[in-house]
Amino acid sequence: KVKLNGGKMAGKKIKVIIIGGGPAGLMAAGQAVQCGGDVTLLEKNERPARKLLLTGNGRCNLSNTAPIEEFIEHFGRNGKFLRHTFSQFFTNELIEFFNKLDVKIIVDERGRIYPRSNKAVDIADALLNWTLKCGAKINYRSSAAKIVTDKNQVTGVRLSASRTIIPADVVIVATGGASYPSTGSTGDGYQLAKSVGHSFVPIRPASVPLLISDDIIPKLQGISLDSVTIKVMISGKSALKATGDMLFTHFGVSGPVVLSISRVCVDHLNKGIRPILSVDFMPDYDEERLDKFLLETLKINARKQVRYIYKNIIPEKMAALLLSLLGIEPDKLCCQISTIERHIIKLGFKHFELHVVGHRPLTEAMVTAGGISLKEVDPQTMESRIIKGLYFAGEVLDLDADTGGYNLQAAFSTGWLAGSMCTRRPED
Ligand code: FAD
Repeated sequence: KVKLNGGKMAGKKIKVIIIGGGPAGLMAAGQAVQCGGDVTLLEKNERPARKLLLTGNGRCNLSNTAPIEEFIEHFGRNGKFLRHTFSQFFTNELIEFFNKLDVKIIVDERGRIYPRSNKAVDIADALLNWTLKCGAKINYRSSAAKIVTDKNQVTGVRLSASRTIIPADVVIVATGGASYPSTGSTGDGYQLAKSVGHSFVPIRPASVPLLISDDIIPKLQGISLDSVTIKVMISGKSALKATGDMLFTHFGVSGPVVLSISRVCVDHLNKGIRPILSVDFMPDYDEERLDKFLLETLKINARKQVRYIYKNIIPEKMAALLLSLLGIEPDKLCCQISTIERHIIKLGFKHFELHVVGHRPLTEAMVTAGGISLKEVDPQTMESRIIKGLYFAGEVLDLDADTGGYNLQAAFSTGWLAGSMCTRRPED
């Protein structure tokens, strides 16, 4: 684990400025004080952690019980950058952290971790109170405009409004991504870092609803489906598969499973490739089992209209629409369904295709893909490889995962590590 040194430089406390009061910044602030730093956090809003309050539909899915290697996979190729961070501060440490702050934690059947109260505000309040109790100062309505450096070493931060320069030995950039800009996360960190020589991977939406071109979409608006499996098909091959709940909207599809596959879809759309979503309404049944099930159901319900047996599996409105789409008269009696028609119904259940033609904008994405290039940040410390005393934490980095609590754990963990390491000096 990290060795701490008391945060002193030439007998004086190391002056730490943290830009951004989201989960990464608040965690970094409290931890930097505990490691001996003299810490000031700059938050452009009049209150901190506004995005945190929206998380998990207001319930805050703060982490996930997946083991480290599986957890890392959710971040795609860049996940390995987090291996060291997670070896220092991971799920158990986060749960213990909140337990100590009297926030009880629960885990749902899918391993998603929430506050027992199901209130994101309890997580935000506990974190803020801890940061303040540790002794960090928080300046609200303070927007950082520039990181000031001298000979590749941080010397301070210039504020937007007053143009005042606040001196600092260390600066931690925790400004978040660029989605949901009304929360304060407007992508400032990219320009702040760029102006001192950092590069960033172009930003794009991740965890974002998708636009679908099929004519059936407006008719399906408002229908939600539980636990469907979606395969993202690229040039006839499956590029990704995920299971979860899905929602039809006026423009296309949304819901947890769609958000999880969206990053891959966005990346292909950006290359001019239009993915096809192959939706399986009955992932627990393989084709053989489904065929048997349909055969039996059609037999038992011989004198009923086929739309009524279909509706036991998907919502009634959708059942009739889908049957028509498959070329089967919804009012036909079950006993009139031919073997070929049964086969068509089976394929309709297992491989329902939707054509992706776009995505909602970054402002509506839950996460920002892209960000500060990881090549320029030391994964052992979160310190810049370009500017001494400059650190990064949270979503501002080129890290993003699908839904499930992975992004918040990464924000807490990188914040904790940056806060722990920033008060160390090479001579210590
Ligand atoms: P942020 O939370 O974005 O905080 C950045 C802070 O920096 C903001 O307070 C901002 O005002 C401040 N700031 C920005 N620029 C400046 C500046 N120049 N000067 C001063 N301050 C500045 N993730 C999960 O793991 N689980 C979930 O359940 C979940 N649900 C989500 C639901 C929604 C609707 C959204 C939008 C996101 C969700 N996420 C979830 C993602 C998660 O919220 C983010 O990954 C996380 O908040 C990132 O934390 P952060 O501290 O890096 O940045």
